[in-house]
Amino acid sequence: MSSTSPSYLLAEAPGKNHGLFATRPIATGELVISEAPLFTAQGLFEVGPAVQRLSAAEKVVFEALTDAYCPDKPTPVTRFKTNALPLGVGSTLGGLFPQISRINHSCRPNVHHSWCEKLGKEVIYASSPIAQGEEILTTYLEPYASTEERRRILVNDFRFVCRCDVCERADPANDALRKKIAQLGDEILYTSRRDPIGGLRLAKERLRSMEEEGSGDPAEYSVTHYDAYQTCIAVSDLEAAKRHMGLAYAYRLLSEGPDSAEIPRNLALYRNPGSHPATGMHGRRVMPGICDGCGKEAVGGGGDGGKKGKGTAKVLVCEGCKCAIYCDKECQAKHRAWHEAACSVAGRLR
Ligand SMILES: [Zn+2]
Ligand SMILES: [Zn+2]
Ligand SMILES: [Zn+2]
Repeated sequence: MSSTSPSYLLAEAPGKNHGLFATRPIATGELVISEAPLFTAQGLFEVGPAVQRLSAAEKVVFEALTDAYCPDKPTPVTRFKTNALPLGVGSTLGGLFPQISRINHSCRPNVHHSWCEKLGKEVIYASSPIAQGEEILTTYLEPYASTEERRRILVNDFRFVCRCDVCERADPANDALRKKIAQLGDEILYTSRRDPIGGLRLAKERLRSMEEEGSGDPAEYSVTHYDAYQTCIAVSDLEAAKRHMGLAYAYRLLSEGPDSAEIPRNLALYRNPGSHPATGMHGRRVMPGICDGCGKEAVGGGGDGGKKGKGTAKVLVCEGCKCAIYCDKECQAKHRAWHEAACSVAGRLR
């Protein structure tokens, strides 16, 4: 999955100053680049003094970055505002990265960026296969905002009009799908509390909707599988919970790498699904086997394929990872392209 040859180069991006481009094909889950910040600042007032402390060579690097707010007369603060990334979700600490800050935005990105506390670096992993010569693109936004919302934020905060294929098409069906994905994300655990099977159905529906939408951010798949795990563990269905944790782990590894703080937690819950404090909180029941391909529910409940007499459900468990389940081989074959990367990661857990 990894290679030592550099996978990107900096080049002119038409209409966007500079951007990073793949120098060779990059596979889903491959590390594209990891980088320590040139400097960090807790608030904009810290930017000036931090820039003062840079060496002459570092100042050259900083001053090569664009300033979207004052392009004609750049200032340290506006240059920082244009290029800084928060060091972790919701962090008020921002970091300026010589290469990573140059990665342009798309509403259908091909990489996922995250701050790795353990490494003290921002890490960028491919979230879909990237062809040689293709631009490396991340998202500056919440993943499932509507066209209108995205346009407003990108113009207000980043001073550009997005010309990605999703924005150019401005398809109302895509907006509706994104809205549905965002809403389902809020509803899963809320529903699970009073209706665990309903909660699991919503989680599976969200996963299918994300696949249909095509942005395919592995981090969002991980979050949703984690929600599904919590839903299953609350009713003590350890087998179903373990399957979802295996995929939560796989997608986390694909999007954030082995040094993510979530990785050891996910691994411990996969090895011992019942160690979560919410185990059995809503009693005990066997969850229905919901096909990861088409969403159809196996009649009779029980995600064990009927092996232990828990139900009459006939589900096909993926041989590769023992995590994904299907109604039949046809559903499995159709789902193969989406499932492949996560399957090979989860398969190594066994
Ligand atoms: Zn866009
Ligand atoms: Zn199916
Ligand atoms: Zn599999």
